[in-house]
Amino acid sequence: MKLVQGAGRASAIPSVDRLLHAGSFAPLLAQHGRTRVTALLRRHLEELRRAARAGTLEPGALADGILAAALAARLTESARLALKPVFNLTGTVLHTNLGRALLPEEAVRAVTRALTAPVNLELDLESGERGERDTLVEPLLCELTGAEAATVVNNNAAAVLLVLSVLAQRREVLVSRGELIEIGGSFRLPDIMRRAGARLIEVGTTNRTHLRDYRDALGARSALLLKVHTSNYAISGFTASVALEQLVKLGAARGVPVAVDLGSGSLVDLTRWQLPAEPTVRAALAAGADLVTFSGDKLLGGPQAGLIVGRSDLVERLRKDPLKRALRVGKHTLAALEAVLSLYRTPEFLPERLTTLRLLKRPAAEMEAQALRLAPRVQQALGGSYQVATTPLGSQIGSGALPVDQLPSHGLVIRAPRSSRGALVPLEGALRALPRPVLGRLKDKALWLDLRCLEPTDEAELLAQLDTLGSIGPVP
Ligand SMILES: *Cc1c(COP(=O)(O)O)cnc(C)c1O
Repeated sequence: MKLVQGAGRASAIPSVDRLLHAGSFAPLLAQHGRTRVTALLRRHLEELRRAARAGTLEPGALADGILAAALAARLTESARLALKPVFNLTGTVLHTNLGRALLPEEAVRAVTRALTAPVNLELDLESGERGERDTLVEPLLCELTGAEAATVVNNNAAAVLLVLSVLAQRREVLVSRGELIEIGGSFRLPDIMRRAGARLIEVGTTNRTHLRDYRDALGARSALLLKVHTSNYAISGFTASVALEQLVKLGAARGVPVAVDLGSGSLVDLTRWQLPAEPTVRAALAAGADLVTFSGDKLLGGPQAGLIVGRSDLVERLRKDPLKRALRVGKHTLAALEAVLSLYRTPEFLPERLTTLRLLKRPAAEMEAQALRLAPRVQQALGGSYQVATTPLGSQIGSGALPVDQLPSHGLVIRAPRSSRGALVPLEGALRALPRPVLGRLKDKALWLDLRCLEPTDEAELLAQLDTLGSIGPVP
């Protein structure tokens, strides 16, 4: 590149003060404010100064208009929020890394209302006395699960931590070796147990646990029998586990409460919509569990929360503990939770109203039609370096729910002609770098885009973005 002598010297860099008064900077000041513009302008000019010293400053880079345009791009980039919407084409509906359940419209409206006006968060409007925030959703949770009482904390890990610390501190908790789970992202039952100050008593073996194993392990220091839903894996073959009913009978005979960590849990029987069976909270309580904990943002389809339902004397103890105060949820969570729980009162409308359920039971034919519609457009956007085809796929529910079951789905498969995985890496990276990142799955020398979670109303945005990709030739 040819450098213009003089204009390319460090001394030729204009002053911040002069530029701030230049006409081409006025719109930037109006939009981004003086503080931000000044800070980024300083940084930009410093880089130009360095380029000038290195002799790499391009001619024309110092014109007011060019400087303003470069600064506008920097300002826009830096104003972009770190948390942003993405396209979840991974095939996992409740993807923990992508924020799990999407809130239905009703819940979003409830959150907006609760966040933009004062609310009766902790005020009993009948008596005018101070109230308890849990009571906003407790009646609903009891109605939907058959529980006596309910309380809410920040997530299910917090729910388990609270139950263990309050009911079993310095005492023993019996858990089957087959249920000592690790959930992705550092939820390990033995670690939570230690943190809660409870002593873990492992019962049985990895694949087989019998009632007598529990009976033999029960002692004077036993505080709790804990059953954990092994949500993210399946043990098959020569296996045995103890039914909740049997555990409840044993616990009742020895005066030791039984808690169940359902993980995802469900408030309704999913088989009613031809989805795989997942244990319901109501069934666990009906089987006699004293407490049940589950997540708000897994199959329930609500906000991140940990729900604890069960015996009122035990829930009362949890509620009175200082740890509960530290783990309590905010008003936005309660607003979203109440709105989502309300939808469960009319289960027949759930498939249309509850986003999670709607996505889970999307007909494969609808996704196939979508794939056929999108394939030629995506092919056109990517150019001849890639081959785009439609394909049947299997989506997962995700978040540990029903790991083995796949939901018949449809999508696009993108291959590079030389069919090496390396050729797809730049494409995968470019899709991830889009303003609204597109996330698929690289597997078996192909990039798979599952369309289950692509709302038809979002297709235009996706395609418009793909058109900006330009040519990303596969690495030779
Ligand atoms: C997901 C899960 C948890 C953790 O729940 P979070 O809401 O993510 O904190 C705990 N136990 C089981 C069995 C789970 O599946």
